[in-house]
Amino acid sequence: MVEDDERIRSAVIRALRERGHAVSSAGTALAGLQLAVEERPDLVVLDLGLPDLDGGELLRMLRAVSAVPVIVATARDDDGSVVAALDAGADDYVVKPFSAGQLDARIRAVLRRAAGAETGPEPVTVGDLTVDPRSRRVTCGGTPVELSPKEFDLLAYLAARAGTVVSKRELLTEVWQLPYGGSDKTVDVHLSWLRRKLGESAAQPRLLQTVRGVGVRLAEPPP
Ligand code: CA
Repeated sequence: MVEDDERIRSAVIRALRERGHAVSSAGTALAGLQLAVEERPDLVVLDLGLPDLDGGELLRMLRAVSAVPVIVATARDDDGSVVAALDAGADDYVVKPFSAGQLDARIRAVLRRAAGAETGPEPVTVGDLTVDPRSRRVTCGGTPVELSPKEFDLLAYLAARAGTVVSKRELLTEVWQLPYGGSDKTVDVHLSWLRRKLGESAAQPRLLQTVRGVGVRLAEPPP
């Protein structure tokens, strides 16, 4: 746990230990980065408002060297901060004040997903696109496609349901874990990035087909 507020840090650590987690902590971003690299934890709970560096900055530095799951725990509840943290590679987000029970449930959910990613399902092929959930690799027309973690999650979610229309609300709930928040814009922006990387556009869709008023479907292009 990286958290500079002594009171919050000790309360959360105590609560997580009571729930069976082993917890190490740091009060600054740089100490947190060092701890994450040295101790290789299963998961990092990260505050954004830290004295030396912004937590978002730390998250980017951490992502350069590690795929460790990260839950951002912060008082910042505006849409922009949530989207920025998730885009920077956070796996989940809790807003202070949160209950220990909620944080524990989110930790368990993120760890389940991380475990699932290692032994995950078979690669899916749709047209000339192949999505491999285990290696998190994507090829389009035989060429590797570099995706951000969230772009990959979005594409993998759609690929697992290829041919089916998925609503933006479902994507916000299942891909972004924002069942009650978030906006369709978040989905739209990621879809447009994905389209660009897959060599298509909303005006000339190929594999990513928008069904107006319903959602989006990943499917073979019509002949
Ligand atoms: Ca803080």
